[in-house]
Amino acid sequence: MQRLLIVEDEPALRRALTINLRARSYEVVPVGDGAAALRAAATSPPDLVVVDLGLPDMDGIEVIAGLRGWSTVPIIVLSARDSQAEKVRALDAGADDYVTKPFGMDEFVARVRAALRRADIPQLSTGPVVTTPEFTLDLASKRAQREGVEVKLTPTEWHLVEALVRHPGMLVAGTQLLAEVWGPGFEKETNYLRVYFAQIRRKLEADPSQPRHFVTEPGLGYRFEP
Ligand code: CA
Repeated sequence: MQRLLIVEDEPALRRALTINLRARSYEVVPVGDGAAALRAAATSPPDLVVVDLGLPDMDGIEVIAGLRGWSTVPIIVLSARDSQAEKVRALDAGADDYVTKPFGMDEFVARVRAALRRADIPQLSTGPVVTTPEFTLDLASKRAQREGVEVKLTPTEWHLVEALVRHPGMLVAGTQLLAEVWGPGFEKETNYLRVYFAQIRRKLEADPSQPRHFVTEPGLGYRFEP
């Protein structure tokens, strides 16, 4: 049975979605705010997430960003706001599809089916906790430990670390890291990467001068070796 996490603060709509999806044999986990959504997703990873952009405790975009730190789960966004900018922001944050309220239940269920089908292609992904012999990274709660001792990473360091550990063993281009973390227009600032990876290695590697996990591929980019 495929598990769907529904994040919607309007009780009537949450109930309607839950009833309709359960009637189609999905397992449904309904929650009413962003914090509960991130907790539920980390505790038992869903196969698909439906998230309303207007939540009482945080912007739905923050929920997407929190999930995307460690998960490639398909995300469908619900919004009453039919603005192009909102749509672009949600997709940039990592949403896969977008449904504007009010919507017909048949159309919504068809989007769910399509998103699950697209996600059915096997891909490399990590769970919320990444473990190496020296350190562990809990990507959901943003906690790092080195040899059992808590290590504090800055938001930018987390962003870089997450961008790499999502693709263990694979080369990630420096230009891609710069565009993802600092934004378009920063693709040439390779000195940023040198500075930040020096800090990350000092915090996480046993021997920062001989990094084993955050490896530089000269002239190309970086690679995370678990
Ligand atoms: Ca709402």
